[in-house]
Amino acid sequence: MAAKYVYFFGAGQAEGRAEMKNLLGGKGANLAEMTSINLPVPPGFTITTEVCTEFYKNSRNYPAGLKDEVQANLRRVEELMGKKFGDPQNPLLVSVRSGARASMPGMMDTILNLGLNDTTVQGIIAQSRDERFAYDAYRRFVQMYSDVVMGMNKDLLEHILERKKEERGVKLDTDLTAADWKDLVAKFKSKVKETVGEEFPEDPQAQLWGAIGAVFGSWMNPRAITYRRLNNIPAEWGTAVNVQSMVFGNMGDDCATGVAFTRDPSTGENYFYGEYLVNAQGEDVVAGIRTPQPINKVNGESELPSMEEVMPECYQQLVGIRGILEKHYKDMQDIEFTIEKGKLYMLQTRNGKRTAKAAIKIAVDMVKEGLIDEKTGVLRVSPSQLDQLLHPSLDPKAKKTVLCKGLPASPGAVSGEVVFTADEAEAEAKIGKKVILVRVETSPEDIHGMHAAQGILTSRGGMTSHAAVVARGMGKCCVAGCGGINVDYGTEQFLSGNVTVKKGDIITLDGSTGEVMLGAVPTVPPQLTGDFGILMEWVDRYRRLKVRTNADTPHDSKVAREFGAEGIGLCRTEHMFFEADRIAAVREMILAEDLEGRERALAKIIPMQKGDFIGIFREMKGLPVTIRLLDPPLHEFLPQEEKDIEALAKSMKVSPQALRNKIEFLHEFNPMLGHRGCRLGLTYPEIYDMQVRAIMEAACELTKNEGYSIVPEIMIPLVAVVEELKRLRENAIRVCEEVMAGYGVKIDYLIGTMIELPRAALTADEIAREADFFSFGTNDLTQTTFGLSRDDAGKFLPFYVESNLLPEDPFVSLDQAGVGQLVKIACEKGRTTRNGIKLGICGEHGGDPSSVIFCHDIGLDYVSCSPFRVPIARLAAAHAVLIAK
Ligand code: PEP
Ligand code: MG
Repeated sequence: MAAKYVYFFGAGQAEGRAEMKNLLGGKGANLAEMTSINLPVPPGFTITTEVCTEFYKNSRNYPAGLKDEVQANLRRVEELMGKKFGDPQNPLLVSVRSGARASMPGMMDTILNLGLNDTTVQGIIAQSRDERFAYDAYRRFVQMYSDVVMGMNKDLLEHILERKKEERGVKLDTDLTAADWKDLVAKFKSKVKETVGEEFPEDPQAQLWGAIGAVFGSWMNPRAITYRRLNNIPAEWGTAVNVQSMVFGNMGDDCATGVAFTRDPSTGENYFYGEYLVNAQGEDVVAGIRTPQPINKVNGESELPSMEEVMPECYQQLVGIRGILEKHYKDMQDIEFTIEKGKLYMLQTRNGKRTAKAAIKIAVDMVKEGLIDEKTGVLRVSPSQLDQLLHPSLDPKAKKTVLCKGLPASPGAVSGEVVFTADEAEAEAKIGKKVILVRVETSPEDIHGMHAAQGILTSRGGMTSHAAVVARGMGKCCVAGCGGINVDYGTEQFLSGNVTVKKGDIITLDGSTGEVMLGAVPTVPPQLTGDFGILMEWVDRYRRLKVRTNADTPHDSKVAREFGAEGIGLCRTEHMFFEADRIAAVREMILAEDLEGRERALAKIIPMQKGDFIGIFREMKGLPVTIRLLDPPLHEFLPQEEKDIEALAKSMKVSPQALRNKIEFLHEFNPMLGHRGCRLGLTYPEIYDMQVRAIMEAACELTKNEGYSIVPEIMIPLVAVVEELKRLRENAIRVCEEVMAGYGVKIDYLIGTMIELPRAALTADEIAREADFFSFGTNDLTQTTFGLSRDDAGKFLPFYVESNLLPEDPFVSLDQAGVGQLVKIACEKGRTTRNGIKLGICGEHGGDPSSVIFCHDIGLDYVSCSPFRVPIARLAAAHAVLIAK
């Protein structure tokens, strides 16, 4: 059978379905679905994503047969509409739009009013009896087409338009007359000829194929490429092209266009939320040139007349459609509609993007409403999105100087230095600065700067403007449409009343209230109760993987418990050595000339270490705690600055030169691969002995005096050969037994190892003979598997990711094909010699959602991550169970 490249929809009949997103793109699949459930959709057809893929495979040539299929489908649209494409009396006009599998708002191109030329415009005048409308539509078409298809700088035509308004002494486009627009069409076309060197195409067929080619071409434009990279969308997916008969929201005051969400995308509240503009074309709402009006007054903030008041019948019909769509799709929908001469048309529906807060509320509400079940509710909240909620909000008690208020477009509270361009935002963020990107309005070209900034502030545009939609998708704080500020790019400042804020000044944004404040306002940690608590209960019901935390202090342990940590997977003891009151003793130990000197210094450290462990054990209330013995090379603890060396020498009563010599002696060319980890424990056994003693004394004391039941897990880092572990294990057992005998208590304890070197992974069967547990140190395992320094890779890894040499930074998301395979091999081998060996991961990947899912799949017992990521890992662990594989 010949391949089918085009899918028709119209008048209640559609060849596609909602499930066909991969083939028809999101927009095409849903236009088909809406048509099938008898919603009022203008007829049209979708050219599949496979055509896009073929187009790129065959040096931008279409597959054979496509042209005929397009013509046949165009005929069907003509029949339904009773109009003809290119007909001088009764012309059909179409829109040509992209539509990828995953929504990419504003990233690719759209052309409206296609089919207009000097002849067909007469037909539109005759039909609409509105010459002004007809020429306005024509000039919009010339503008869009010359920009998108002919690659002309759109400012050139904008400039001519501005000059026209000046000449005519008017401010607004709406003040121009039919004659003005007619004149502009001619001027635009001659400018196109002058600039591009080609006539603007008159032939509607040439226009159509030009537009189809441009939409496929836009799949590879730089902003689409950036968006795909940021959102992990593969280039192979391609876009579909939707050709649909035009309906007009700009034919007079009984016309309108709008966008709406079936629930509030910012808070998740269950009310119909949307904006519309009377007498406007779709792009006007998104562009933020005119301030949109609310569709209703449910949240009562706007003074402008609502659609419910102005067009009550259409509004009621839309409310009905809202109900139908939610019941049908069982999810919150983001819709686009147009009203032409009092008749409502649906132009799009898709699952609406939402903040984490809204995602949770909508999921919990929809379960309560019986629309979806708990498992679906859990899958509706994406683990990475949860991050947004786990961040602080403004301290309600803090003093703040509110400059002005805009729309609360995307929640969060952030402070940073003001910058005015996306490039600056990116450059400043690269050198570690926190910045707020301030724009009149953002456009898809700003995407990289929005990503780099802490937050975004715009002076124009509504809740569905580009800035608002994109920021919400990114989980970035955003205040949009802040009309009270006047942004001047030229002088790099903005004015708010009589206050001038310059580039580099610090401001704070509150994306939940829309407030903009001068200076940095303090924040408070998030509240994790209510709907969040309900969702997390469901999450814990479905997941198998346990979630522990990486914590080194009682405070972090407490925070992690509040986030639901079920133990500590990694307590890095070296962090305790850096405390101000103990670094001197640590240095004394390192610099001691002999064993006796080291033991003297260690005797000073042991009570402090014991105190740390008591605090942590108490906080974890009997949950498992894995404590890793000292890992980094000793020189990390020594001073580097000359003045610090002198001060230390003085306090230690040695000469500065002697100290310098020692530092020199300890220097390593590659400390990451040097004298660290268990190598330290083997060459200076007294250090590990001290630590094991501190752990066991703390555990024995709490068991004896406070009735705790503690099973300490002692962990040896950087093991490469089993013999290292065997010897260190013997030492540790000796100390443990001594301590227990001293206290007269018996406690269970485990001695295990980190698997963070490829050799350890490959010989895990031997190593497991000496280890009660494995914890995968995937930070070092990634470093050593790739031969990629953790400390230096930042200089070139971003290039690798940008150039698609690597899909992601392997230090952020586990390289499942390489490092992940070593983990898998080690698990399998470890189990062969120690049945039921406890397996966990404590590298940064333990809090990365896709890595957590991998850990579930290969059968680890737990993941361990930083306290703030514990809920993310819990949710990802539930997804791992619930996602159909
Ligand atoms: C690791 O290597 O993954 C690990 C957890 O240890 P560290 O980051 O302390 O080297
Ligand atoms: Mg490590």
